[in-house]
Amino acid sequence: MPQLAISFADVLAAADRLHGVARRTPVLTCDALDERTGAQVFFKAENLQRVGAFKFRGAYNALSRLTPQQREHGVIAFSSGNHAQAVALAARLLNMPAVLVMPHDAPAIKLAATREHLRGLRGSEIVLYDRYTEDRAAIGARLAAERGLTSIPPFDHPDVMAGQGTAALEMIEQAGPLDALLVCVGGGGLISGCAVAATHLLPEIAVHGVEPEAGNDTQRSLKAGHIVQIGVPQTIADGAQTTSSGLLTFPVIQALVRSVVTVTDAQLVRTMQHLAQHLKLVVEPTGCLAAAALLEGVLDLRGQRVGVILSGGNVDLIQYSQFLSGTGGSATLPDPHGGALGALIKDAP
Ligand SMILES: *Cc1c(COP(=O)(O)O)cnc(C)c1O
Repeated sequence: MPQLAISFADVLAAADRLHGVARRTPVLTCDALDERTGAQVFFKAENLQRVGAFKFRGAYNALSRLTPQQREHGVIAFSSGNHAQAVALAARLLNMPAVLVMPHDAPAIKLAATREHLRGLRGSEIVLYDRYTEDRAAIGARLAAERGLTSIPPFDHPDVMAGQGTAALEMIEQAGPLDALLVCVGGGGLISGCAVAATHLLPEIAVHGVEPEAGNDTQRSLKAGHIVQIGVPQTIADGAQTTSSGLLTFPVIQALVRSVVTVTDAQLVRTMQHLAQHLKLVVEPTGCLAAAALLEGVLDLRGQRVGVILSGGNVDLIQYSQFLSGTGGSATLPDPHGGALGALIKDAP
């Protein structure tokens, strides 16, 4: 078996670095949802993590490992979503410059939150680009070369993967032994870190990944035995609109994940409603993936102790109210090239 990019020791070291910095998010249980699924379900509420998603764990772990010289020059990241906010906050806490390359039509709330974290931080800025006409890789490469910035990728990096794995480490400390662990899959940073932690602590555990039906690249890659690339998936799960898993994450998934299943956007919307109603939690569409597989019966884990990671809670409130009232969702898919809200407004009769 090839050497995997991270080991359990890396996750433990990440947990040390994150101690007192990342929030130890609660693990919630709910009789109504236990009854619905026939399982004993433990929900890890990473929507309550700093910046509203688990991404803070990986970003902070990666930035805290940079050399003094790298810290002096700073970091660069590309993201329209939670990774940008995570890198911005981590850079602020560690006092290093951060350049975030974001599409000019990124959700307004995410741009504003990222800008707020960078306020007054030396050498930091948001560089906006037009995703129709400009090549962000070229923009990034130029900036990185000019300023000596270190690039922090959203999932395919050992320190990012190890940081994300602390979510599962913590959850098992909080919930006790589990038979199964359900984790959403975008590029696979979260699930690879969590699988390393969970299978080390509980060798019998079944780790299952959950992808949006439209973006099942990892499921297809596992079947094919190599990384399969797909087009940008059309789904409300905007945090899982990745087109392939990573060169580092995929071998970990291959080695340690039992299966990858998919859920539809309609199933995500119903799950968002269940989580609001029963757990009183705001969870973004991507954050509902793992829960949806269980609550919608895609995975039948009756009689088992099941951990479910709720990965994030950053959702536009108007869009969220439409999901809750059943007027948003698969009939009004966000345009991956535009703001989700813009698409809803455009599609309105
Ligand atoms: C980034 C993100 C994901 C996907 O994580 P990967 O590590 O890319 O698999 C899932 N949910 C939320 C809320 C995210 O921000």
